[in-house]
Amino acid sequence: MSFLGMMKKILVAVLYFLKSLPLSVWHKIGEMFKRIVTWLYKRLNDNGNDQEKQTEDEQNDWKKHVNTGENSTDGGSRGKMKIVDVRRKMYKNPDPNRRYKIRKLNKIKKLVLHCDDLDWDLWDIARYDVTPNPNHHISPKGLPGFSYHHFIEKDGTIFYCETVTKITWHVAAHNTSSIGICIRYRATNNKNPPPVKQIDAVIELMTRLCLILGISPDNIYGHRELPGTGYVIINGRKRYRKSCPGWLVNLDKLRYTISIEAQKTLKQQGYYKGPIDGIFGRKSRKALKKYSKDAKRRR
Ligand SMILES: [Zn+2]
Repeated sequence: MSFLGMMKKILVAVLYFLKSLPLSVWHKIGEMFKRIVTWLYKRLNDNGNDQEKQTEDEQNDWKKHVNTGENSTDGGSRGKMKIVDVRRKMYKNPDPNRRYKIRKLNKIKKLVLHCDDLDWDLWDIARYDVTPNPNHHISPKGLPGFSYHHFIEKDGTIFYCETVTKITWHVAAHNTSSIGICIRYRATNNKNPPPVKQIDAVIELMTRLCLILGISPDNIYGHRELPGTGYVIINGRKRYRKSCPGWLVNLDKLRYTISIEAQKTLKQQGYYKGPIDGIFGRKSRKALKKYSKDAKRRR
């Protein structure tokens, strides 16, 4: 008998056997199959939860560091920073599959400052961001969550809105590598710059983020300073597409002040021996690298 013929015989025998099985056995097979599918489904979901849990652990780690503004000696010598953690209260997109992607902390290379240019309440912006709307300025399906990681009120209160490991959508083409910080400030037709308290909060928060994440203050940008979304080069000339965070926000002064604050902390804590001159050169960067490495170890 050929191999094929034998296979055919076996197959026929198996089919006859299956056909002869009573209905109750078929029922049991069905139940078993159902259980396997349920188990598989649960396994897959568990993996999802694991990922969620990991993120939460990272969140808590982060919280320990960033949320101790009032008493900590880390970052900024102003020491008045008040951070309110509202991450659990933030609105989410109604579509459960529409969620921000997660990144590792070491992927964060720059800080970007925005203004809402609306003078809206945080919760109004948050609701607008996630609500599907055909006229939504970023996506008709709405954003997965809040666009910025931090939102700063006029009185300097900092709201921690989305965990920094989330890749939020605040500046096209630079989201993966940046943290978005937004001030409540109507820039258009405004003759006044943002209040001192608010800018002080920006300085303190950014100094701390620079120190912990090892980001040089030279990598702080205003939204308008980023190529593509902020400006384009036409015939060799820079054409701004945005004024965000407002022309009256002096970004050079901001970077300079944060460089000084960071140098002060690095010096106080024995990482830096050079001058406090606001120039973030090789020595400062080296000290910063060491500081953030130690900060990671402490976490
Ligand atoms: Zn912006």
